[in-house]
Amino acid sequence: MDAPSCNADIVIIGTGMAGVTLARELRKFDQDATIHMITSDDGQVYSKPMISNAFAQGKSPDTLVQKTAQQMAEDLNVRVWTHTQVQSIDRAARSLHMDGPGGGRIIGYGDLVLATGATPRPFEVEGSTSVSLPAVNSLTDYARWRAGLTEDARVLIVGAGLIGLEFANDLVNVGYRVEVVDPMAKPLGRLLPDKLGRIMQDALTDIGVTFHMGTTVTGIAPSVNGNVARLANGERIAFDHALSAIGLLPNTGLAQDAGLTVKRGIRVDAYLRTSDAHIYALGDCAETDAGVLPFILPLMAEARALAKTLTGAPAPVDLPALPVAVKTPALPTVVCPPAPGAKGDWIVEGDGHDRRALFVSPDGEELGFVLTGTETKARQTLAKEMPRLLAA
Ligand SMILES: Cc1cc2nc3c(=O)[nH]c(=O)nc-3n(C[C@H](O)[C@H](O)[C@H](O)COP(=O)(O)OP(=O)(O)OC[C@H]3O[C@@H](n4cnc5c(N)ncnc54)[C@H](O)[C@@H]3O)c2cc1C
Repeated sequence: MDAPSCNADIVIIGTGMAGVTLARELRKFDQDATIHMITSDDGQVYSKPMISNAFAQGKSPDTLVQKTAQQMAEDLNVRVWTHTQVQSIDRAARSLHMDGPGGGRIIGYGDLVLATGATPRPFEVEGSTSVSLPAVNSLTDYARWRAGLTEDARVLIVGAGLIGLEFANDLVNVGYRVEVVDPMAKPLGRLLPDKLGRIMQDALTDIGVTFHMGTTVTGIAPSVNGNVARLANGERIAFDHALSAIGLLPNTGLAQDAGLTVKRGIRVDAYLRTSDAHIYALGDCAETDAGVLPFILPLMAEARALAKTLTGAPAPVDLPALPVAVKTPALPTVVCPPAPGAKGDWIVEGDGHDRRALFVSPDGEELGFVLTGTETKARQTLAKEMPRLLAA
């Protein structure tokens, strides 16, 4: 690479919640360091979890924006490069190459942080490469998708995980007709014990969501009146708009091309250091010893620790158990899953919508929980009793 056209003490790639929280934390310890942030999008600051219950909160995509990139740059005294894609990292020269309005620039860094997030897993119909469905993983995606929604539309959601269910609840509440398809037997199949999956399905069915569980979409074709999805179980669903919510893949391409260790995500140690001593990663793109944790609580804990590390007081990430609220008002739910591969059984107590499920190991240790209805009040107390995900 050529010589850098500018240099920064710290360069953060990504202005999602991970990148922005890190910049905010860094400024608590160091007001003077030059910090550059680079993003391929418009750099607007917003809370991503609010997207999937925007209707319930009476929010439009515009009113979800908390700050423009320029306001963030001023508040945090950082330089923000928007609509700019980082193309490659030169580890030996400690510089990176980017395109976009910055036009083929090279920036030198003291330390580099990858906060590059994740990309929706592409929706594929077996045997066809021509069918694609929109997915929402950013405010821009959401604004585009929502702008296309017509009144009273029939919406097909593929995927009954957290995001799929939250959108289903939000859309049906404001009058859309929603059908959800998922290959698992019950919604949130990886997170809930069967009994609670059934209660979730019933609660959403009661407010008008139609489920097609245990099956997949095998084809989509236009029809005179919208589109039709063909399912493996022989059913047909007529719809006007579709949304794919089948999971995310960490953005690891830049790291991989730079020769950093990548598994599911960009591998980092307890200090969020990658296999290069001057490159760190956090948020949806990173993989700690606790795995890839694509949620807000972990990225905030990571940002707090990394800010200390980058300002000369190395701090390992300390991550308690992680309760995540499922934003389905039809059945308020909090999940705190056991570690992947943990051995044990679910014990479910309670009545109606108010349930408490504990995941208990063969030797009686409580490793995870799910709370629904009024039981969700116990989330903080129970979380403290669960094993930590990462201990400092
Ligand atoms: C609809 C929805 C609802 C959610 N609800 C919840 C919830 O209730 N609770 C919860 O805990 N979590 C929730 N999550 C997950 C949570 O929002 C994410 O874990 C978090 O926002 C990820 O932030 P991030 O900064 O790591 O990644 P992202 O927000 O994906 O940001 C990635 C950034 O990297 C930039 N970038 C990537 N590659 C490049 C490149 N080569 N060059 C330049 N820029 C690049 C992008 O432009 C972007 O700025 C939800 C997610 C979604 C989609």
